[in-house]
Amino acid sequence: MRLVFLGPPGVGKGTQAENTSLKENIPHISSGNLLREAVEAKTETGLKAKEYIEKGLLVPDDLVVKIVVGKITSADCKKGFILDGFPRNLSQAKILDKTLNELSEKIDKIFYFTTSEDIIIKRLSGRRTCKSCGANYHEMFMPPAKDGVCDKCGSELYQRKDDNPKTISERLRVYREQTEELIDYYRKNGELIEINCNGKISEIQQNIFEELHSMLNDKRKAE
Ligand code: AMP
Repeated sequence: MRLVFLGPPGVGKGTQAENTSLKENIPHISSGNLLREAVEAKTETGLKAKEYIEKGLLVPDDLVVKIVVGKITSADCKKGFILDGFPRNLSQAKILDKTLNELSEKIDKIFYFTTSEDIIIKRLSGRRTCKSCGANYHEMFMPPAKDGVCDKCGSELYQRKDDNPKTISERLRVYREQTEELIDYYRKNGELIEINCNGKISEIQQNIFEELHSMLNDKRKAE
């Protein structure tokens, strides 16, 4: 099962990707998490990517593509993956298609997550992220059991530097300018399913599972 989770920052796709990854037992590949890990480890890619991330801009394609393609083509991803935050522009989408084509594979479904800008701003400004595993929480809507501590791995939670009002509005502008055109691209080239994210996390998750199960049933019937 090869899935792309597409949508604006803060819509909740990271949380949904994490839950779906656990349930379906396929890796969750978050380009944002991979880049933050590289920044933390001060690798060459991380050092170059840092200033773009802090400004809310897209990291140049060559840097992102290298780490994401490395993951997709690794043995871990043989049975599938969930891409979260990648592709973020048309050229990344084309590189993804080409990479999968060379493996005689393709994206099975694109989940396009939507909600209002008001909700996005509330979600991003209250978001807390785990320093170690990258899991996301929200100080009001999804607090951890123990204040400031990740439920999943026990590490410290922090507020991402780019989750501040100025950078949030820049990230939304970049999304509209560079990422939104992917919706049309995938409507024409793939199987795009729209998921409304105004409701509860558990309801959204249920919608995703229902879509995945009907996709698997269709696949079985076709075989
Ligand atoms: P995210 O965790 O998905 O919100 O990503 C955080 C930041 O990482 C973005 O604002 C970009 O600076 C960078 N980033 C993540 N994914 C990509 C990508 N596919 N292309 C370019 N930059 C990216």
